Amino acid sequence: MVQDYFNLQTGLPFMILDGKPIAKEMLEELRKSVSEFGKLTMVSVAYEEDQESIVYFNSIKKNAEKVGINFVPLVIKGEELMNIIAKLNDDSAVNSVIVGRPFPKGIKNEMVSEALDPDKDADCITYQNMGQLYFGVERITPATPRASIDILKYYGVDLKGKSILVINRSVTVGRPLSQMLLNRDATVTIAHSKTRNIEELIESSDVVFLAVAKAGFLKASTIKSKKIVVDIGINVVEGKVMGDFEMDAENHLVDYTPVPGGVGAVTSVEILKNALELAKCQ
Ligand code: NAP
Repeated sequence: MVQDYFNLQTGLPFMILDGKPIAKEMLEELRKSVSEFGKLTMVSVAYEEDQESIVYFNSIKKNAEKVGINFVPLVIKGEELMNIIAKLNDDSAVNSVIVGRPFPKGIKNEMVSEALDPDKDADCITYQNMGQLYFGVERITPATPRASIDILKYYGVDLKGKSILVINRSVTVGRPLSQMLLNRDATVTIAHSKTRNIEELIESSDVVFLAVAKAGFLKASTIKSKKIVVDIGINVVEGKVMGDFEMDAENHLVDYTPVPGGVGAVTSVEILKNALELAKCQ
């Protein structure tokens, strides 16, 4: 089971695994590395109906400005996506690209995965970069899974041998995350909407990664054994941003990442780390 050192460190009955100090440290390190490296340009591509990606890319742009990365957010019509990707692939002034998801109607995951140059793939969506994860090679990793794991690393959680439940099987989150957890010697179970015994699986896990996009999916009051909840979900409820986990009652058994200020805070910095990594190899 997860050890008690969080509680001993803070003197608090449970611990909030805050992403903000990690993001701050990572940004500072990145600022130094970018200034040593020199100019690099990253382009984001969102289609105009996808307001969530537009907001997300604007938040990455703010961090990019802090570390000295030239970040160009493009907002396009959905049908232009494949042509724009081809142009960005050929543009030697562009070091890396991130594309908003879900993709516009008619454009499947695999079309973009095949079209984007893997050497410019800032969020690890191409077959080549995603495939490397399965061989244990983590040069470029998808930002959200990476952020979820880096938060635990920062707070001293060793994943080796832990029983881990990932509730999500999407190509964005659950699949790469599960692979990266396996790469760290965790024992991984993947759950989804057709999983029958989810309460039992939650109860028998040391760490639960939650990304179901349902506010209050897991409530603190239902947890009966010590565990960490990494809350990846983002839900807007009556104008308020919430995760999938709800601290509905004080529970000394659970440590968790908050929403906002948890995984999301670190994710946008991970993208910029990838941008630098890619630029170094070009
Ligand atoms: P998605 O493709 O809709 O995946 C949702 C997953 O939850 C699916 O695997 C689905 O199962 C599963 N699920 C739904 N209802 C369930 C239930 N009742 N019991 C068990 N599993 C259930 O969404 P996504 O793109 O992966 O994103 C998931 C969440 O993460 C969203 O809230 C998104 O906003 C958030 N997110 C956060 C970040 C960040 O940086 N913090 C980044 C990306 C995404 P099926 O496969 O069977 O449908």
